Amino acid sequence: MPATTTFLPLSAWGLGVDRPLLVAGPCSAESADQVLATARAIRTRAPQVKVFRAGVWKPRTRPGTFEGNGAEALRWLQEVKAETGLLLATEVANAEHVDASLKAGIDLLWIGARTTPSPFAVQEIADALRGVDVPVLVKNPINPDLQLWIGALERLAHAGLTRLAAIHRGFHWFERTPYRNSPMWEFPIRLKGTFPDLELLCDPSHIAGGRERLGEVAQQALDLNFSGLMVETHIRPDQALSDADQQVDPAGLAVLLEGLNFRRAAPPGVLHAPLQELRDLIDQLDEELAQKLGSRMAIAERIGEYKHAHNVAILQPERWEAIMRRQLQLARHLGLSPAFVEAVMNAIHTESIRRQSQVADEAGQGVPPSGSRASAQD
Ligand code: PEP
Ligand code: MN
Repeated sequence: MPATTTFLPLSAWGLGVDRPLLVAGPCSAESADQVLATARAIRTRAPQVKVFRAGVWKPRTRPGTFEGNGAEALRWLQEVKAETGLLLATEVANAEHVDASLKAGIDLLWIGARTTPSPFAVQEIADALRGVDVPVLVKNPINPDLQLWIGALERLAHAGLTRLAAIHRGFHWFERTPYRNSPMWEFPIRLKGTFPDLELLCDPSHIAGGRERLGEVAQQALDLNFSGLMVETHIRPDQALSDADQQVDPAGLAVLLEGLNFRRAAPPGVLHAPLQELRDLIDQLDEELAQKLGSRMAIAERIGEYKHAHNVAILQPERWEAIMRRQLQLARHLGLSPAFVEAVMNAIHTESIRRQSQVADEAGQGVPPSGSRASAQD
C-alpha cells in the first residue's frame, strides 16, 4: 500500500475547534497552583483560547535546569480540563510520554523543536500513535532544515495520523538576530507549498524570545494566513522556571490577542502564490543582508581598535585592492555586473572607514588626518 499523507482541516478534527486555533499556557507545568491559576485566568481574560498548553517533560538544551515535573503534572492538567473545559496539549518526545499523555486524556500532542530533527524519536512516537489518530502539532526543527520538518510530518502521516498541523517557532541562527529564533518565513511557506492542506500555527513566543515583538510576529503569521497561534502564558512570568522572558501573563495575553487583526489574513491560497513566496524570500534575504552588514561593521570596529592599539596605519591600499579584485571575480561567476558590485563594495568601504575612524576617535588619539583615512582597510 503506498504511503499516504492526508491532512484534515482543523474544523474536521472533531474537537469543536476551528480557525483561528488559539493555544496558550505556560512553557512548563511547574506546580498545581501555577497551572490552575494560569488556566483560570486565561479562561476569564481570553475566552477565545480553546487549548491549554503546558510542558510536562522539558527538553532543555543544557542539563541542570528545570526538566519538568513529568507524569505528576499530567494530573494538574486533568484538573484544568475538569474545571475550565479547556482542551489540553503537551509535548511528547518518546513512546513513554505518548502512552502517559493518552492515558491522562491529553487532547493534542506536540513534538518539540529538539525532537522533530530526530528520525528515531519521531518514528518511535509515530509507532506509539499507530491506530490512535490523536491531533499532533509538529514544531519545526531547531535548525533551518525543511526536509527534517517534512520528514517528521510524513512519519506521522504514514502511521495513519490525519489530524496534523505544523507549528512555526523560528530557527536557531548562528548570527545575532533581533529574534531568539529567526522567523525565516520562507520555511513555513515552502512547507505549505509541499503540503497545501496542512494547517500552520505560529508560536510567536519562541520566535520573539521576549514580550516586545510578540504582537508583530503574531500579526505577520496571521497576515500570511496561518491557522492559529500558540502563546506561552504564565500567571507570574517573571518567576517562570523556563522561558521567563518571553511569557506573558493572562492579562497580557488578552491585550495581545485584542491587538491582532484576525481579518487581515491574505485571501486563501496566498501562501503558495508564487509572487508572495518570492516576496517573502526577498524579505528574508534582505534581513540576512542587514545582519551580515551588521556583523561586518562590528568586525571592522574590532580591526579599528586593534590598529589603534598597535599603532598600525589605517591606510592599507593593497588590502582594499585585493578585496575588490576578489569581489569582482566572484561577481563574474555570479553574473553580477562589475559596476554594481563595485558600487556596493565602495559604499560598504565608506561605512567601514567611518566606523574604524570613530573607534580611533573615541580612543582619543593617534587618529591619522582625514585625508589618509580615505583608504582605510579592514
Ligand atoms: C516549548 O514549547 O516550551 C518548547 C520547548 O518549544 P520548542 O520545542 O519550540 O523549543
Ligand atoms: Mn518554552
